[in-house]
Amino acid sequence: MLSNLLKYKIDNCTIFNQICVVCRATGTRHGLCAPCLTMLPELTGPRCPGCASPSPQNQPCRACATNEHALDAIHASYEYCYPLAQIIQAFKYQKRMELAGALGFAMRRKLGTIPPCFDVVIAVPLSNERLAERGFNQSELLREALLGSGKSSGSPTWCWRKRNTLPQARLGQLQRTRNLENAFGVEHRCDGLEIAIVDDVSTTGSTLETLASELKKRGAKRVEAWVLARSFSSVT
Ligand SMILES: [Zn+2]
Ligand SMILES: [Zn+2]
Repeated sequence: MLSNLLKYKIDNCTIFNQICVVCRATGTRHGLCAPCLTMLPELTGPRCPGCASPSPQNQPCRACATNEHALDAIHASYEYCYPLAQIIQAFKYQKRMELAGALGFAMRRKLGTIPPCFDVVIAVPLSNERLAERGFNQSELLREALLGSGKSSGSPTWCWRKRNTLPQARLGQLQRTRNLENAFGVEHRCDGLEIAIVDDVSTTGSTLETLASELKKRGAKRVEAWVLARSFSSVT
């Protein structure tokens, strides 16, 4: 849950003049100037509703059509490449939390807020260890930006990440499956619920799929994901 102290810090960041993380222009409101905001690599053209890969006429791609998935849909706003990849790295690893405002705005502009039919909106949880190291959950900050009115301000605490996992993109198929085994805990029945998950970057989709699978095991009716950036690098 986002502490009041952290919220205070972010709110105050936004009123100071920030240096644009891409072009170093001064006087930006959220650390990203307007011209650089328009340079973000939007995902265009028809996409597979299951994984956001390019697909003619928005039809499910072959992988999504032939495999059972717990995740019902993925909504991705941008491609994970320059300059967004560098912005996200600054956001997460240089702790430029003011960028949450710009990235949340950019994501909402492309995808809109999460529709009210979703009963619960969850940020992909970090392990306690990772949260302590980073100081914030980047997906939680994006989640706040995508919430429509009337939703609670913090992700539910009945869903958590049990341990750190290695970046999926660096692993082979078997290692990827093992890496995420028992990664998430869900201590709540979700019978009949429609659940939205928010994440910053999706590369293989397996993290979202694993979490969606845990939620479905607890009875969730539908699980869809909203992601800031989808990576289509060598791993698919
Ligand atoms: Zn700029
Ligand atoms: Zn697909």
